[in-house]
Amino acid sequence: MEQNGEEIRAVRVVAEGVPDRLFDYAVPDALASRMREGQRVRVPFGAKVVDAYVVEAFATPPGEAAAAGERDLFGEPTVKRRALKPIVGLDDDTPFLSRPLIDLARWMADYTCSPFDSVLRSMLPSVIRGREIREKTLYYVTPKEGTFDLSRRQTELLENLRRVQGGWLHALVREFACSPETLKTLERKGAVAIEKKARRRDPLANRRILPTPPLPLMDEQAQALKQIVEVLDADGQRKPLLLFGVTGSGKTEVYLQAIAHALDQGKGAIVLVPEIALTPQTVQRFVARFGKGIAVLHSALGDGERYDEWHRIRTGEATVVVGPRSAVFAPVRNLGLIVVDEEHEPSYKQDETPRYHARDIAVMRAHLEGCAVVLGSATPAMETWNNVQKGKYLIARLSKRVANRPMPAVQIIDMRLETLRTGHPQIFSEPLLAALKDRLERGEQSILFLNRRGYSRALTCPRCGHTATCEACAVPFTYHEADHCLRCHICGDWKPIPTVCPACGDPAFRYVGVGTQRVERALQACFPHARVLRMDADVTTRKQSHDELLSIFKSGRADILIGTQMIAKGLDFPNVTLVGVLAADTSLHIPDFRASERTYQLLAQVSGRAGRAELPGEVFIQTYTPDHPAVQASASDAGFEPFAEQELRERFEGGYPPYTHLVCLTLRSESEERVRFFAEHLAAAFREKRIADLLISDACPAPLAKAKGLFRYQILLRAPTAKRITAPLTDLLKKHPLPLDIKLAIDVDAIEIS
Ligand code: ADP
Ligand code: ZN
Repeated sequence: MEQNGEEIRAVRVVAEGVPDRLFDYAVPDALASRMREGQRVRVPFGAKVVDAYVVEAFATPPGEAAAAGERDLFGEPTVKRRALKPIVGLDDDTPFLSRPLIDLARWMADYTCSPFDSVLRSMLPSVIRGREIREKTLYYVTPKEGTFDLSRRQTELLENLRRVQGGWLHALVREFACSPETLKTLERKGAVAIEKKARRRDPLANRRILPTPPLPLMDEQAQALKQIVEVLDADGQRKPLLLFGVTGSGKTEVYLQAIAHALDQGKGAIVLVPEIALTPQTVQRFVARFGKGIAVLHSALGDGERYDEWHRIRTGEATVVVGPRSAVFAPVRNLGLIVVDEEHEPSYKQDETPRYHARDIAVMRAHLEGCAVVLGSATPAMETWNNVQKGKYLIARLSKRVANRPMPAVQIIDMRLETLRTGHPQIFSEPLLAALKDRLERGEQSILFLNRRGYSRALTCPRCGHTATCEACAVPFTYHEADHCLRCHICGDWKPIPTVCPACGDPAFRYVGVGTQRVERALQACFPHARVLRMDADVTTRKQSHDELLSIFKSGRADILIGTQMIAKGLDFPNVTLVGVLAADTSLHIPDFRASERTYQLLAQVSGRAGRAELPGEVFIQTYTPDHPAVQASASDAGFEPFAEQELRERFEGGYPPYTHLVCLTLRSESEERVRFFAEHLAAAFREKRIADLLISDACPAPLAKAKGLFRYQILLRAPTAKRITAPLTDLLKKHPLPLDIKLAIDVDAIEIS
């Protein structure tokens, strides 16, 4: 294409498989008119020809530009002119990356301290970059009008084909029990056309979804939609908008109608949802409203499906994209709106290079595209809330549930008293048991929530205190009852259960803590006739079983659902009237400045599962620390704002995010001595730079001190901006690179320290 009216003569590319560097190539005359930024090209690289992506296009090759202009102190051109090698192929005229996406990649590489090519890899799924998966083409048969010279059987077949309006050859052969040769004969006689067509591998093909019209909005919803529409209709830069709505307040309906508005403007939209919430229920609500124009990006998609969905987006066939964090890079044309649902969710952060946060990327992409961005939550992240307080973000509120359904009544139960009363620790308190019994009698459903995995946390010897531990990771093994083994949740290693304690020989290992399996058993003991369903990471590793379990529960074929984090959000069960939180404290007692925020979010989300429809809901929170602010706040309708105020004050006083940016450096090595040495060295080098307002921790073993055979050391840095840490860091690493056996992970705005 033309850049400022001139033809493209040279391009700068990222070559597949070549990390961290950009290369310039000349554009041969034959290709110049088809050349666009963001295209995929074939370039010679050494002795090979590789795929590459154009990140910059020049009307004048960069060397020549320098020769014409820039000179150094001696009057020499700053860049030596040299003949560029020409690109050798261009296989598709539609760009893979748009200008805003390329700019986003640049910003992201810089902000997260990640190599440019790793950022591109996040933007373009591997099935798209690779050449193994292609469009699937099959023969398609289209019947023609008119009369033809046919046998009786052929006439009958043609009538059938007309009735079904044609179809895929292989399917017609089966449906009408005819041979491909018969269809060929019809073609020869001019009665049908047979041609090769791309067939979309549609992940929703076998689902029947009934269309839904927009609902008439409640007052607050209408007001919120009006605010979003104002942003959509605005010119120029727009502020992000927080849709702050209690659970069940109808945020999704607001998103749906906002997206409809964007579509009316001829624009597209992206909806990010946490992976865990990407259930058929969620997807269905979007598909039912927008039908064929929607593309769903799901981690469970097959390669072929992913390929087709991505290309439907790129070519503009799909205009609304629903997906998890990586969908923030979807190549939607003419993007009008990005929605980040449950914006506080930690799963929006990618925990490998590039360590980006999809919410932040969404805000940045919206800025670069000049489009609107809506962040939705009942329990906004402190970062987001702070931006609202500062006036950087707009806010729309939904303070009531749809149809004025009451918020559930939340009761905090002091488990210390239960222990005192009965003499030993209990899984279920008396009030919770009574409430469960009551629901069973009334035929209503209950959810029991536990913030843990597996049967119990660890296996500990009651005599000597020895805990079974994974040697490679230095964390306790988790006991799994179902397959009767010990499993390491970090590296996945497992062992059979020892019959005696390896340390003292005592034959009785005991379980510390409670897990979902134990809750299930205790529950069955109390209510032998209850239909109990358990859902946690262990039973849902199969592709479908998550969906299956949910549909069993939704259809009323179970009375009680026991689960971990994965049932805490996004689900909408009209018949659930009771939610019990069994161990509210688990997430409080971890060494993390976000422990309170996380606990509050979890409790508020879980309580939100109760009483979503006509039936009122009740929530019991069992805890050993009933006075904790996070626990207290979750028991009140308007708990968030006072909680956030206090939490932000504490963060400010402690110098924590959102008042600082936190960068976590993790060094790993097989040798503990060497990793400690280099970590201490790096920390010392940083201190010597005497950077203003920089807080730096000592180099120390990470909470997860050893994983996959590598020792881990950490340095935590905090400063008013991330740049104040990353710029000197890059500088240090350039001057004093770490030895190859020391691996360094840089996590800018880290949210999980492990
Ligand atoms: P949130 O995302 O805020 O938790 P949802 O969007 O899931 O809330 O809405 C909760 C329920 O209310 C859903 O079953 C939804 O279909 C219903 N709902 C939403 N808006 C309306 C409305 N305007 N009128 C009637 N029902 C609505
Ligand atoms: Zn391990």
